[in-house]
Amino acid sequence: MRPLVATIDLAAIRHNYALAKRCAPGRQAFAVVKANAYGHGVREVVTALHDEADGFAVASLEEAAEVRALHGEARILLLEGCFAAEELPIAAQLRLDIVVQGAEQAAALLAAALPQPLNVWLKLDSGMHRLGLSPQAVRDWHARLRNAPQVAELNLLSHFACADERAHPLIEQQVEVFLDLLDLDFDQRSLANSAALLTIPASHMDWLRPGIMLYGATPFADLSVLELGLKPVMSLTAQLIAVRDVAVGESVGYGASWVAERPSRIGTVSCGYADGYPRHAPSGTPVLVDGQRVELVGRVSMDMLAVDLTHLPDAQVGAAVELWGAYLPVDEVAQAAGTIGYELLTKVTARVPRRYL
Ligand code: PLP
Repeated sequence: MRPLVATIDLAAIRHNYALAKRCAPGRQAFAVVKANAYGHGVREVVTALHDEADGFAVASLEEAAEVRALHGEARILLLEGCFAAEELPIAAQLRLDIVVQGAEQAAALLAAALPQPLNVWLKLDSGMHRLGLSPQAVRDWHARLRNAPQVAELNLLSHFACADERAHPLIEQQVEVFLDLLDLDFDQRSLANSAALLTIPASHMDWLRPGIMLYGATPFADLSVLELGLKPVMSLTAQLIAVRDVAVGESVGYGASWVAERPSRIGTVSCGYADGYPRHAPSGTPVLVDGQRVELVGRVSMDMLAVDLTHLPDAQVGAAVELWGAYLPVDEVAQAAGTIGYELLTKVTARVPRRYL
């Protein structure tokens, strides 16, 4: 077998979910498991949280059906709502909580014949301007849906644009817009993603929606996983599959973009962009070989990447490599590559075997 595996620590996910709940005592929490549980495997993650999680949140009806098959009772929140009217009866059959994020979805709901009423979350656009109804539209639809036969609970939800930047003025503005609707008799309210639940107590409301923190990555540029008390979940590990010396002036990899300025020892690692490692990661991105930090050199290939082993003369073919994980935070690699941990985790491709602890 090709020496590359994503090892996923399910006990760490349980730890991180428990930490989310401890941050906001008395609140309930939807574990966000969209996008195959941020690349970790929805089946295994839902099973690991089966007895702990109050609910799960997903992005599509297909994802919701998969979660319902794994958990008969949990609340399952469809974050973007139904994309077509035909989905509404299926959502009702699956006993989903649906978001209604626009007037078209609200109208479709009022017109729907459903086998049973749904828990509905009106989504307020409190300032992100991506999805959601204006405050006035929330008032209008609240009045029309409050006693509609299609609706069981009528709830309110919104989403932060900048909760990961703690001093951003939009955070307070969004909380204010949300609280301005407190006079409406919603059954439940939800506002906080990971960043907000960790740092904005005023956002906790009734239901939390932690995603990235469950997977042991930080939403913040200036607060590490360790500082937050979270445990890393996914370790992407490979091996050195070749080692060579290169002389001054010789290059490494496609495009000959990295040229040795001193006699160098170069290792080739069994992981590339077709595995989900970011192709745009620049020379200098950290990699662990035998537990020691070395630097990526040259362009990332489809199945391989190269590292500079000059300061690690003992590393041989077969040496253990960690691309990110328990000892090298995914956030650090993401930062070096100009992206975020979310993207690296969700992009680990299907050909990388997942091993569960
Ligand atoms: N709520 C909504 C509506 C989302 O779209 C997301 C993720 O994108 C989350 C919650 C979870 O966010 P995070 O992963 O930052 O905790």
